[in-house]
Amino acid sequence: MYTHHSLLLTPGPTPVPLAIQNAMNLPMVGHRSADFEAIAQKAFSSLKTTFGASNDVIILTSSGTSALEASMRNLVNPDDHIVVIVSGAFGARFQQIAETYAHNLHVFNVEWGQAFKTDDVMSFIQSLEHPVTAVFTQYCETSTSVLHPVAELGHALKAHDDNIYFVVDGVSCIGAVDVDMARDAIDVLVAGSQKAMMLPPGLAFVAYNDRARERFAHIDSPSFYLNLSKHHASLEAHTTPYTPNVPAFRGVVQYAKMVDEEGHGQVVQRHYAIRDAVRHALKALDLDLLVADDSASPTVTAFVPKDTDEVKHIKNELSNTFNISIAGGQGKLKGHILRVGHMGFISPFDLLPFIASLEIILTDYRNENYIGKGTKAFMEVVYNEL
Ligand SMILES: *Cc1c(COP(=O)(O)O)cnc(C)c1O
Repeated sequence: MYTHHSLLLTPGPTPVPLAIQNAMNLPMVGHRSADFEAIAQKAFSSLKTTFGASNDVIILTSSGTSALEASMRNLVNPDDHIVVIVSGAFGARFQQIAETYAHNLHVFNVEWGQAFKTDDVMSFIQSLEHPVTAVFTQYCETSTSVLHPVAELGHALKAHDDNIYFVVDGVSCIGAVDVDMARDAIDVLVAGSQKAMMLPPGLAFVAYNDRARERFAHIDSPSFYLNLSKHHASLEAHTTPYTPNVPAFRGVVQYAKMVDEEGHGQVVQRHYAIRDAVRHALKALDLDLLVADDSASPTVTAFVPKDTDEVKHIKNELSNTFNISIAGGQGKLKGHILRVGHMGFISPFDLLPFIASLEIILTDYRNENYIGKGTKAFMEVVYNEL
């Protein structure tokens, strides 16, 4: 079979709409110009809806990991005790960043594929001898496709100790979830450009409340490029401390415009409907899901083929025969699972070629007729939820 159109269904990068590409192709302007200041001011403030933030959002010209590092460097002093929740490869990254700077680190491990249980996290924190300065977690742990109950934990943390900073890595779900930093008791919320925000890779975002911004200004831990106080001072002046990715800032403005046009609530609902349809279809194809329904992310779905050979076969056939890219497992899940991304510039029917291809691949490979089974299950959900 020959497919003209390639289909990018990895959990980042994700497809970039033409309107954003076009906005990014406008003639270059200098970053110390009134033109750029107008773009920057719009970009910082237009992200408030997506992040559920009451302050403008800092934009860094670097990938998502830089925002993870920045959130830690700018909130945590050398002697502070912090808790990092590790439920997959990206939690492990937060742990590595903490270990790099030799903080008093307490790791709360969660079985990969499960969401944390708020009560268990709280018992862990209460069992520590030192008060905790900050708690770090993923919102969506991309490596397992779990969506954690961050609002529930945010409230429990604040009830336990008002002084704790709650830092959430939303790189792979911000743009696709209903989040409100004040309502959900989040102090710092970070994201990246190339996932649910349908931009090219290379920008990172840091949203913060007033209490966190205050802390950035008085922290002892040194930082230079990622000093958030410096970035905040520039933001107030509608600019950036160093040369920004000017085209990508224009992309951000266009992104926010598209979200406004569709309506943020509708964007979120679209992601959840696609998630449900994908999960229903995979089940109909006798593919196990790694994550239970009540903690499944709206942006990425991990599924478990019968064995390692089937994992390889499905991924290769999708790519070689059908021109469709999905992702494999990371860390200890490598070779055991596959992950399909469905976030950003994606509508329900965009997933149909993936489901239809799986029907063909599995019919041949398992010698069992799956034709029509996945697509029927998929369409039933789309029909009912949209
Ligand atoms: C992709 C991702 C990151 C890292 O982003 P980079 O842009 O690769 O630096 C961090 N956290 C989560 C949850 C992610 O999905």
